[in-house]
Amino acid sequence: MFLPTTREEMGKLGWKELDVILVTGDAYVDHPSFGVALIGHYLLAHGFKVGIIAQPDWKSDKDITRLGRPRLFFGVTAGNVDSMVANYTASKKKRKTDDYTPGGVGGRRPDRATIVYTNLIKRNFPDVPVVLGGLEASLRRFAHYDWWEDRVRKSVLVDAKADLLVYGMGEKAVLEIAKILSTTGKVEDCRSVRGIVWWTSKKPDKGIELPSYEEIVNEPVLYAKAVKMQTFLTDPHRDLILFQRQDTRYVVQNPPQPPLTQEELDELYLLPYERDVHPYYSSMGKVKAIETVRFSITAVRGCFGGCSFCALTQHQTTHVVSRSKESILEEVRILTKRKDFKGVITDVGGPTANLYGSSCVTREEKGQCQRFCMHPKVCSGVKPNHEAFLDLLESVKRLPKVKHVFVSSGIRHDLVFAEGDPDVFIKELVKYTPGQLKLAPEHSHPKVLSLMRKPPAELFLEFKKRFEKFAREFGEEKYVIGYFVVGHPGEGWRENHHLKEFIRKHLGYIPQQVQIFTPTPGTLSTAMYHSGIDPITEEKVFVERSLKVRNKMKENVVGKIEEKSWDG
Ligand code: SF4
Repeated sequence: MFLPTTREEMGKLGWKELDVILVTGDAYVDHPSFGVALIGHYLLAHGFKVGIIAQPDWKSDKDITRLGRPRLFFGVTAGNVDSMVANYTASKKKRKTDDYTPGGVGGRRPDRATIVYTNLIKRNFPDVPVVLGGLEASLRRFAHYDWWEDRVRKSVLVDAKADLLVYGMGEKAVLEIAKILSTTGKVEDCRSVRGIVWWTSKKPDKGIELPSYEEIVNEPVLYAKAVKMQTFLTDPHRDLILFQRQDTRYVVQNPPQPPLTQEELDELYLLPYERDVHPYYSSMGKVKAIETVRFSITAVRGCFGGCSFCALTQHQTTHVVSRSKESILEEVRILTKRKDFKGVITDVGGPTANLYGSSCVTREEKGQCQRFCMHPKVCSGVKPNHEAFLDLLESVKRLPKVKHVFVSSGIRHDLVFAEGDPDVFIKELVKYTPGQLKLAPEHSHPKVLSLMRKPPAELFLEFKKRFEKFAREFGEEKYVIGYFVVGHPGEGWRENHHLKEFIRKHLGYIPQQVQIFTPTPGTLSTAMYHSGIDPITEEKVFVERSLKVRNKMKENVVGKIEEKSWDG
């Protein structure tokens, strides 16, 4: 079912009042790839009445007031991506399009949507608690470097003047908040909930103190230190409280929620999603973001890949949870009953598809080590399970009405070489690849790759060689396509030319997928960009900050390009 978006829809459900209203910067797409749909259905399944206000007009009070006053709280998210990433290109140009908006129209979500929506709510409902969540809030929960303004900003919780912030995958924390507010009605009573950030004017008497906002503003190196601490101390097994002074207040992060268990993840993905855009948008054009995921399956959550520029480790954590085969097959059966199903499951994956079924006893029992699981090489503690992944794909393929099953999510090719005979998996993967297998070596130069915490480029070439050999044997036109990033910390002209030569020599084509590094909030790479040191080793790193030069670096690799091709 669709969650109600108007009074009329509430009336059809016999609801006079809502418990929770979720406000989002995306269009309302009732699909489990969208955070608002996940949280909304999860709360509903636990007995709370939830409504959605999607992409409200922030210049008027009309949209934000249309569902009335919620009994418990407003939940606010900028949407599936940070609003500044959604609204600006890597060249800081305003985007004209937005994949999360009907008809792809840009400009329906404000810059810094989390703050703008909270202000809008507080103006109309000053005494209703506002709980922030989603990627933007999660990655901006402490003082953070903001590339668009080229300065350190305070926690978004403080800037928005919201009541609480849920970080990471928020189902459990949001549910606990709803239960507490339903019982006592007091925000203060939520301050023991795991997985949240809150603020206080009194210094916490326990926990670990991060460098303060003022210290970070004055000394960028301390920002690198703070990001390293957040990265390695935020673990459900560590029970640590982190806090940071910001002017006269303290922003306090409670320990994270434990990851959902397999059973909980199974249940979450089998809730009654419509897997479609809300009918309200029917005459407004397609929402591109649903078209690529409508017939996709999330099989795994979390990633221990540890890429420095990736926000996922910070958001979903390194704790990998895989759904059961039966639950996934059940979801596929649901998809095959849809009228618009054409026989193709476009993806069975997650942040990294071939982490499905993998495990590490140490991580599961004691928490993440104070080092990376896959860099400089795959740790012996990692137990990949490609057999389980292949068995899953085979089982999906055997279901009635399923003609093709593809893996479109990224895979970690270094993991393939870390278990038994790599050819067993590579050979099978050819069958589940829709023409092009997209891999992300990201760069070729060893120094840049090391800062990115990515495997050596030679491993990518080896994987590509084997994959394309099997494709030829099968008589299939299938290739490995590389994704690259220029302008990452550590890359100067020498490293840039190295990448150019690598591509010319080994790929023989000009890749379309070369992006300019964008320092998005909260990542290790962004800490390198701002501080000029690697937060892990504390060694100095060359950083090219000129946008003009970074654009030229891209041009050097791909040739003369139109500005619009940088979009995305
Ligand atoms: S033992 Fe290895 S795989 Fe496990 S958490 Fe530690 S570094 Fe990661």
